[in-house]
Amino acid sequence: MPYDVIIVGAGPAGSAAARACAAHGLSTLCIEEHGTIGYPVQCAGLLSNAAFAECRISDRPVLNRVSGARVITGRGSELLIDAKVQKAVVVDRAAVDREMAKAAADAGAEYRLKTGVYGVKGNMVLTRGAYGHEKHTFKILIAADGPRSSIARLYGMERAKVYLSGIQADILHDCDPRFVEIYPDASPEFFAWLIPTAPGRVRVGLCGQTNVAERFAALMKKFEPSTTHLVTGTLPLGLMPRTYGHRTLFVGDAAGFAKPTSGGGVYTGIRSARHAAATAIGCCEQGIFDDKALSEYERRWQADFGSELELGFRLFGVRQKMHKEDLDRIVQALKEPSILAAIVEHGDMDRPGKLIKNLLLNPAMLPLLKPLIMSGIRSFF
Ligand SMILES: Cc1cc2nc3c(=O)[nH]c(=O)nc-3n(C[C@H](O)[C@H](O)[C@H](O)COP(=O)(O)OP(=O)(O)OC[C@H]3O[C@@H](n4cnc5c(N)ncnc54)[C@H](O)[C@@H]3O)c2cc1C
Repeated sequence: MPYDVIIVGAGPAGSAAARACAAHGLSTLCIEEHGTIGYPVQCAGLLSNAAFAECRISDRPVLNRVSGARVITGRGSELLIDAKVQKAVVVDRAAVDREMAKAAADAGAEYRLKTGVYGVKGNMVLTRGAYGHEKHTFKILIAADGPRSSIARLYGMERAKVYLSGIQADILHDCDPRFVEIYPDASPEFFAWLIPTAPGRVRVGLCGQTNVAERFAALMKKFEPSTTHLVTGTLPLGLMPRTYGHRTLFVGDAAGFAKPTSGGGVYTGIRSARHAAATAIGCCEQGIFDDKALSEYERRWQADFGSELELGFRLFGVRQKMHKEDLDRIVQALKEPSILAAIVEHGDMDRPGKLIKNLLLNPAMLPLLKPLIMSGIRSFF
């Protein structure tokens, strides 16, 4: 018997899709190449309240709760954004993935661990691993296989536009547990971060495109050497041009859904997975699996967060043109009380569009707008 849905990858996107499909009564198989779900960890574990709520799991993976951010430039300018209420949680990401997979299995999804998909032949995935060589037939395939998506490569699909490399270390360091720290110019293409996980413990990391290891080593000189856990990973930004085809829907990092402003991919990954599951359910109910039926998936995620990702990618482009002096000037300008108040009121890690529109209408922003308009952001509005 073919499975209704086969999902490749048991990260948050894969398990969210598996849970939704199985809960609806579809026969669902989730295939994961690693023997333990959640490892290796490739995440800083900072989730907005909304992103954590999307996981639909217990509070057990929560390590810390944060209410704001301190932005610190290399030139010493500092900006404290303090919402005074919880804005995000810091999680044990492996525990999040495990709880999400357990919830999907409880809903009826089958999991096959230590099993890698290495080929697709018609409606069949070819796997190898702990169960030897196998073939499993599907009606619809959900590729939740992360930034390197082997399924996308097997089909020769065009991929995300930009790939950033990330390095992060858990270290012993004291800081105010209420605030994450952002170092906007520690990486010329993105930024670096410090995230408090527990009293006396933080995660320090950096993402970028060039000289990432060297820049990370330079960043780490600010701290006492005490690494307890080192993480490396890849962050795809800029969507693949088409997120469906060949009876397959691409979700999460496999499609390049990470937010280009923050690098966070859990919120959009899980939401994309739910849109994929809803589309798969519709296709299975009607028995139609052509591209027209699959395109419903793209319509759904576009309506949900498509414009936010587009704006984010434009901002990412603007960021590429900025120098250290520009970033320092921006941090200084954002201290203006009406701007800071707008950031606290409208700031949303997952949907920055509302804040950006609000800031563009603030007269105090005028000195900063010229370079943004020159860089093409105006065409978005
Ligand atoms: C350094 C770094 C820090 C980050 N910090 C954050 C953060 O703080 N907050 C946030 O929201 N996001 C963060 N992200 C992004 C986030 O980790 C990803 O967006 C998220 O994990 C995407 O989920 P996913 O389920 O799409 O893919 P993944 O979590 O990558 O899961 C894909 C799964 O597919 C499996 N797989 C791959 N190929 C195959 C195959 N052929 N057969 C079987 N299984 C396969 C993999 O083993 C993996 O388990 C960070 C990323 C990096 C690199």
